[in-house]
Formats: sequence, C-alpha cells, structure tokens
Amino acid sequence: MARTEDAKVRITHPERVIYPEKGITKQQVADYYAAVMDAFLPGVTGRPTSVLRCPEGRGSACFFQKHEIAGLKRVATVPMEEVSGARDEYLCPDSPDAVLELVQFGSLEFHPWGALARDPGHATFVVFDLDPGPNVTWTDVVAGARAVRKVLAGMGLMSFVRLTGGKGVHVVAPLCPPCPWDAVKPFAQGIARSLAAQWPDRFVAVASKRERAGMIFIDYLRNSRGATSVASYSLRAREGAPVAMPLRWDELGRAGAASAFDMSKSMRRLARQRSHPWEGWDDVRQGLPPIA
Ligand code: ATP
Ligand code: MN
Ligand code: MN
Repeated sequence: MARTEDAKVRITHPERVIYPEKGITKQQVADYYAAVMDAFLPGVTGRPTSVLRCPEGRGSACFFQKHEIAGLKRVATVPMEEVSGARDEYLCPDSPDAVLELVQFGSLEFHPWGALARDPGHATFVVFDLDPGPNVTWTDVVAGARAVRKVLAGMGLMSFVRLTGGKGVHVVAPLCPPCPWDAVKPFAQGIARSLAAQWPDRFVAVASKRERAGMIFIDYLRNSRGATSVASYSLRAREGAPVAMPLRWDELGRAGAASAFDMSKSMRRLARQRSHPWEGWDDVRQGLPPIA
C-alpha cells in the first residue's frame, strides 16, 4: 500500500483544515488517497480526468479543472479535441504520484471521462446518474436503482452500483468492446424515457423537471464525449468527507444513504475487503442492444 512519504510528493500546508466539520487536514486527505490508491487508480488511469480543487478547504471557493496546471510535474496530460475543434491538454493522472500531486494542488474530487484518452470516441461504460429530488427516501432511491438494473438486465446488460457520496447513486454498465457515443447517448436517453413512462410517479427523464419533489431524475446526460462521472473511491467536497463508494447490489439497501461512507469508514472497508464489490467488471463482454 502506497504511503505519502514513499511517494515523495511533498504536501505543503499539511495541517490546513480541509473539512472543518471533522477537522480533516490536507495531510489526511493525502493519506486517504495513498491508502486507497490501489482501488482508486484503475478508475482514472488512461482517462482524461477533471478535478474539483478546493485549495482553501471544502467550504471556500472550489473549482473544476480539466486542463493542465502550471507547476505540475508528475501528472501526464493528453491533447484532446474540444467540441469547438481546438485542442487542449487534459489532465490524465496515471500514477500514485500524479494523484498525490493533484491533492497537493488542492484536488478533492476526481471525475474521469467515460472513455479512454486513446479512444475518446468510444464509451467504456454507460452510466445512469440517479438524482433524487426533495422528499425522496433511501428506499425510493434503492427501488429506483434496482428498476434501472432490471431494465438493463432485461436487455442482457450487467450493471454495477455506486453511492455517489452525495445524494444519489450511479448505475453503471460496462461496454466491452467500447461503443461509439452516438449510439450510447440515444440508448441512455431511451432507457431514461422508457423508465419515466413506465413509472411516471417515480422517475423524471427531462432535465427541466429534475427538482420535482418525490421524484428521481435519471440523468442520462453523463453519456457523451467529454462528460464525466465521479470516480469510485473519490472523496467528495461535501460535509463530512463522504466517498463515492462502489457496492455489491446486495449491500445497497442497508447502506442507508448515498453518503454512508466517509473517509475513515471507507479506509476501514477497503482494508478488510477481500474482493472488489464490482468483481467481474473486467470479464464482462457486452454491447448495446438496438432500441426499438
Ligand atoms: P449526487 O448523487 O449528489 O447527484 P453526483 O456526483 O452524481 O452526486 P451530479 O451533480 O449528479 O453529482 O453530477 C453527475 C456527474 O457530472 C458528477 O459526478 C460530475 O462528474 C459531473 N459534473 C457535475 N457538475 C459538473 C461541473 N460543474 N463540471 C464538471 N463536471 C460536472
Ligand atoms: Mn447525480
Ligand atoms: Mn446529475
């Protein structure tokens, strides 16, 4: 297990408090990423990855950064084409040192693309970002996620679930071989719309209605070139230092909340974990079925 000291990335202002509600310091954030590195790194390696930086702590100004940062020495960058056609250098952390250097630069959250930098036109997964509106209970979120899983399974697609560390969950289906975005995007939209049509009192698939009380917005918009979703085991810049935690499906109900795993609980979970909760991911060979 990598330790900050071994990684030789110097953490300046190690005593700076990043999560005031728990007194969690910058050094503890670095130690967290060092401790979970083996599980965390595969989720970002090879992918353009935006970071949410909060240099003065999570309560102060935070900002998303996708492009290279002056002064970084250990973080690879990749030239990627922007929607405008211009090219720009994107962050692509692919080593423990790179991750820790980004932490040194104030990063708390890591948000990889759904595609690899060497093949940006193809998605390696389709993700359904379930965003509960006000007054949605955990039981409802769990039922919603299971409904998405069931619809996907009915189309022959195996899926996995992750607590976001925020309010909702991500249901993620690997695509192997990777699939072009112009097929993935309409597929995800089609699934979201058909779920909303089937359960109109539970799901919303239109962004303008995303805050409806009692409803879950199925945010299918994460499925396009350049869109991101939070990496498994990433910290969130939210109260209590919650972590985006991949689960086995049978763990979802008893998790109780999307923010159920904070930094220290997550480290304990990983330390005693025998197998990855998304075991089998690498062996999945599946593609999108045509939608009627
Ligand atoms: P929650 O469960 O609270 O919704 P979440 O991570 O799913 O947490 P969303 O707001 O639903 O948060 O966003 C989904 C994903 O979209 C995020 O994980 C992130 O990768 C990406 N995203 C959202 N807002 C931004 C932004 N301003 N800049 C870049 N990426 C963003
Ligand atoms: Mn969400
Ligand atoms: Mn969303």
